[in-house]
Amino acid sequence: YSAKSGRLGAAVYDEDRDGHGRHRLEDIAALRRALETGELVLHYQPKLDLPTGTVAGVEALARWQHPTRGLLYPDAFIDLAESAGLMAQLTTRVIDMALAQCRRWADQGRSLTMAVNVSPSNLVDQGFPDDVARLLAVHGLPAGSLVLEVTESLLMEDRERAVRVLTRLRDAGVGVAIDDYGTGHSSLAYLAALPVTELKLDRTFIAAMTGSARAASIVTSTLQLAHALDLVLVAEGAEDAATVAALAELGCDVVQGYHLSRPLPPEQLEAWLQERARAHVS
Ligand code: C2E
Ligand code: MG
Ligand code: MG
Ligand code: MG
Repeated sequence: YSAKSGRLGAAVYDEDRDGHGRHRLEDIAALRRALETGELVLHYQPKLDLPTGTVAGVEALARWQHPTRGLLYPDAFIDLAESAGLMAQLTTRVIDMALAQCRRWADQGRSLTMAVNVSPSNLVDQGFPDDVARLLAVHGLPAGSLVLEVTESLLMEDRERAVRVLTRLRDAGVGVAIDDYGTGHSSLAYLAALPVTELKLDRTFIAAMTGSARAASIVTSTLQLAHALDLVLVAEGAEDAATVAALAELGCDVVQGYHLSRPLPPEQLEAWLQERARAHVS
């Protein structure tokens, strides 16, 4: 789907990229329905704190359990939600579900921070910080249990408004992470002025680091930058043991990636956590 196609006819009858020719209006109606029913689900990927070896938090990743098309990944519906004006609703729903899960885990004695991805339209919405505060209160969770992940490109779009919204969230105690860091083009001065708590170095750098000294030095220098700015450095997309070991060696704070675990439904994540706990005591 192209958000750019402004002509009504093109927007309505454009064929989907996969050529199935589903109509955009039908997909929008289906997505709207999914947001009201239980079709939107969350998978959770653990974030490992390297110095302690503990799972400090998880990232919630949206999936759409579509009635006929199976489990859909974000690339199949995030742009649609954005262009159809459904992103505020989607984000609110995701935060609500993620915090409900965070609450259930807290009640089981599992203290895990919950990271949620947010979109451009959320950050220009001046009512967003209040929505977040309300959801935290509904689930009885402190602001520090939530981290919002935003991409650099997103921050470039409407900087002033986005910074205002982020500052209010940050002042309330919510964590803010720059996602896919290194793929955008924010200046260091801009970065230093942003109200953020974490940098998530993009997985392209992580994937390359064990095979290339140049890629490894990008990781090293980003780590120094993050620490100089008092930010936590998270490496995303660590796919093998050698990469995790190299990250630990360099002093990276947090690691996430398929080597530890893919994003999992909540019950499977619990089983994974239990298995880890067992392996570590024995
Ligand atoms: P992201 O926030 O950068 O999330 C990381 C993506 O990389 C996830 O894909 C995850 O499954 C994948 N990944 C994790 N570890 C590895 C690894 O070791 N190797 C590789 N190759 N990939 C790994 P996913 O779940 O398909 O999500 C894609 C993107 O969709 C996310 O990128 C995020 O930007 C967006 N997204 C997901 N959920 C939401 C949501 O609830 N709201 C919004 N606005 N965007 C979302
Ligand atoms: Mg993310
Ligand atoms: Mg990312
Ligand atoms: Mg990414």
